[in-house]
This record gives sequence, structure tokens and C-alpha cells, in this order.
Amino acid sequence: MAIPTNGDSMPRLSDLIAVMEGLGYGTDDQGLLFSLNAHLWRTMVPLVLYGTPEQRERYPPGLADGTLIGANASTEPEAGSDIYAMKTSARPAEGGYFLNGTKTYITSAPVADLMVVYATLDEKAGPLGITAFLVEADTPGVQGSSAFDKMGLRTAAMGLIDLRGCWVADSAVLGRPGRGSQVFESAMEYERGSILAACLGVMRRQVEKAVDHARRRQQFGQPIGKFQAVSHRIADMKVRLDAARALVQRIGELKDQGESATLEAAVAKLFVSEAYVQSSLDAVRLQGAKGYLSENPESWQLRDAIGSLLYSGTSDIQHNIIARELGL
Ligand SMILES: Cc1cc2nc3c(=O)[nH]c(=O)nc-3n(C[C@H](O)[C@H](O)[C@H](O)COP(=O)(O)OP(=O)(O)OC[C@H]3O[C@@H](n4cnc5c(N)ncnc54)[C@H](O)[C@@H]3O)c2cc1C
Repeated sequence: MAIPTNGDSMPRLSDLIAVMEGLGYGTDDQGLLFSLNAHLWRTMVPLVLYGTPEQRERYPPGLADGTLIGANASTEPEAGSDIYAMKTSARPAEGGYFLNGTKTYITSAPVADLMVVYATLDEKAGPLGITAFLVEADTPGVQGSSAFDKMGLRTAAMGLIDLRGCWVADSAVLGRPGRGSQVFESAMEYERGSILAACLGVMRRQVEKAVDHARRRQQFGQPIGKFQAVSHRIADMKVRLDAARALVQRIGELKDQGESATLEAAVAKLFVSEAYVQSSLDAVRLQGAKGYLSENPESWQLRDAIGSLLYSGTSDIQHNIIARELGL
């Protein structure tokens, strides 16, 4: 499908959100879609927004046709929520920079070809020292780990990246030196608002399956859907789905009109992730013991959903952003 653009070579976000919901509805492999999110929002979007003509010519075609896998390397062992406390350093050298540091919990790190790596020119400068770099995975001094074993999103390979005396040319800077926080924040706004679009598809499937199961499963001589405790639980899943979709679609509408969506993206991320976990838990409850078996999707949907409370800023951090945007 050809996705229309907003006139500035950026596809319409509303269309991307709709596509992601459709993919989420159509597959049980949320790990694959999660990797696609990291690739799209945190590699492709910053390139489209901040790339030089050379960078935009070199990388997006491969990222679009799948010959290149993208990753975003910002989190460090000692800098998670407090991301601007990062220690990975960028030391100017002849014609470029030496990068040194460790990035962790990086989605697709074990398989990535291209990474957007954030490093600081001056640790004491906080956000003002941060610079974004495009680092190819086979650059000397880049060492990846094998994939971490994690509770959910198991097909999304997550790992660590060590940078030791990794030299990159000036042309690898994405955006401007010392302005990496701008690249980071604008990509985050897209990601926060849209990363859960695929989850809408899962929530939609959960409602459909719950209704079907509640009609067919008989206990005490009647379908369990006749018990109000069960039917109301499914009604709540439907309410969460519709509210979540409206919040995610609002991000698409705002960004397509060229508007800022800092507050709205944090509201969407917070509400949708919490709703996703709650509905996934309800989906397990509705199936009874069957939903607890590893072979059934309800069990892995719940494990996948829990990650959403953490990535792209935890729920606590979304609360902080919302409070800050309200002037508190
Ligand atoms: C599935 C998954 C994929 C990920 N993919 C990537 C990736 O591709 N690239 C990448 O760079 N990172 C990635 N991450 C890392 C993610 O960005 C961090 O996990 C996240 O920022 C939280 O940091 P942390 O895990 O160090 O937790 P911490 O920051 O140590 O937080 C621990 C607890 O303290 C709370 N807390 C911390 N600060 C505050 C505060 N100011 N106010 C209130 N509560 C607070 C948090 O909410 C949390 O409950 C991924 C994480 C997950 C789970």
C-alpha cells in the first residue's frame, strides 16, 4: 500500500497508526511489531526529520525495504528514566568523534545494521551535551551482545551495545552537535503516541474472543456471559479499547496538522499501556485455566503487555510529563 505523505516526505501518522493497528490485529507476533516500532519511530523518523540529504539518501531506502534493521540506543545501565544522565561520551577527534560507553536494553541490538546512538559531548551539560549519531553496526569498536532472555515480546531481540574507541565521521552526526535532545524528544513524541497502535489490534481481538468464549462456555447450566461479573468485565475491555483508540488517533491528527503533542502523547502512552495490561489480565481471567497455559495467546499477550508499562518512559514518567505540561 502506498502511504500518502504530509507533503514533507513524512507519511501521514494517522495512516501509519491505522496500519499498525491492522498488523496488531492480524498477528500474534507482537515481538515482531515491537521491533518494527523501534525501527520506525526511533530510526526512520529521526532520519526523515533531521537527516542531511546524504543521510536521507543513504539509509531510508534500505530501512524501508527491510535490507537494513534500525535500532535506537539511548538507555544505559545507570541512565534509564533519567536519560540525560547518560555517560556514553563523544570526544571530538580529527574529522569526527570517538564514542565510548555502554547502551543496554536496546531493541534489535543483536540484529541491527544501523543504530541511532545518543552520546554526550559534556557530561556536566545534561541535555545540552547530548548528540545523536548514526552508527553502522559493523563499525570498528562496536560490540553487540547476544539477545537477552525476557518475559515477553520474545521475538524482539533485545541486547547490549558496547562502544570502545568507536570512531565515526562528522557526517554521522544526526541533527546538530549538542542538539541530540531535540532529535530524541521529537522521536519520543512520535513513539510515545504511536508505539501502542499495534496493541489496539490485540485489544480488539481480545474483545472479540472474549465475547465468543463467554457465549459458548457453559457453567452452572448457562453461558458464562450471562453472569454479570463476566459480561461487565468484557464491557470494560470494550470501553478501554475505544478510549485507547481515540487517544492514539488524536496523536495522528495532531502530528499530521504539524502540531505539538507532548501532553497528548504522554496521556495516550499512560492510558493505553495500563488499559492494555488490564485487558490482557481480564482476557486470561475469562478463559480460566486455559488462558494460563503457555500455549494459549492470552498468557503471552499478558507477558507482552507488561513491557508497555516500562518502554518509551514508564507510567510514572508519563505521569510526571503530564503534571509538568499542566504547569505543576
Ligand atoms: C521491552 C523494552 C524495550 C526497550 N527498548 C529500548 C530501546 O530500543 N532503546 C533504548 O534505549 N531503551 C530501551 N528500553 C529501555 C527503557 O527505555 C527503560 O527501561 C526505561 O526508560 C526505564 O528505565 P529503567 O529500566 O532503567 O528503569 P529506572 O529508570 O531505573 O526506573 C525504575 C523505577 O523507578 C521509577 N522512577 C524512576 N524515575 C522516576 C521519577 N522521576 N519519578 C517517578 N518514578 C520514577 C520508574 O517509573 C520505575 O518504576 C526498553 C525497555 C523495555 C522494557
